[in-house]
Amino acid sequence: MLEVRDLSVKYGNFTALHGVNLTVNPGEIVVLLGANGAGKSTLFRTLSGLQRPAGGSATWNGTPLTGGKPEFNVSHGVAQCPEGRLLFPQLSVQKNLRLGAYVHRRDPAGTEQALEHVYSLFPALVQKKHDPAGSLSGGQQQMVAIGRALMARPQLLLLDEPSLGLAPLVVEQVFQVLQQINQEGVSVLLAEQNAFAALGIAHRGYVMESGQITLQGTQNELMNDDRVRSAYLGV
Ligand code: ATP
Repeated sequence: MLEVRDLSVKYGNFTALHGVNLTVNPGEIVVLLGANGAGKSTLFRTLSGLQRPAGGSATWNGTPLTGGKPEFNVSHGVAQCPEGRLLFPQLSVQKNLRLGAYVHRRDPAGTEQALEHVYSLFPALVQKKHDPAGSLSGGQQQMVAIGRALMARPQLLLLDEPSLGLAPLVVEQVFQVLQQINQEGVSVLLAEQNAFAALGIAHRGYVMESGQITLQGTQNELMNDDRVRSAYLGV
């Protein structure tokens, strides 16, 4: 499981995360709701090993994720699909996907298997595999970004705002695939501003405000919470 305990992150004098506590149990989809600037991306960067915390701990199945070596975290089962996708637009879809498998570069058969699995999850990418990633629609680029993270064959997938800028129908498609990935045994931590779609597939969730967890609950509890309804569901 993912265990985040009292995690604090600072940028100079500015404290972006104040003692965050959060867990993701094996097999769960957990959503992290929060407005722009709440600290979601900071948490994800820290869990990916890209940002060192000022205090506290984050472990995956007991292994510390805070050593500052992203490739260590990936090779221990934690892969991130970052906000804004960060694809290489000139490289083909297939080359972008293969980049996600670099930690398994000594296992070519496993890499080919992972590639076939990504294409089975996102059949729309098959006919685009030789096209530059930058020529794809926003939704298809998001599929490539998720696929690239899956190429590392993670046990825990960190997804930062996968619905950003996508049409509602495409969001639905992407979230259906997330559910399928989860049913195949991958735990998911999902940062989202699209609370409606995210709560639709999540087992549990947390609300983050100004670098602190201010609310947590099951899917049902959050969907029926007045604060969540007015701040994130617009009802
Ligand atoms: P968004 O959805 O806009 O990415 P977020 O919830 O992911 O928002 P963060 O990007 O984690 O929020 O930012 C949290 C706070 O930390 C914000 O106030 C932001 O301005 C600040 N911050 C983020 N990165 C840095 C940085 N490199 N240096 C200084 N402050 C930063």
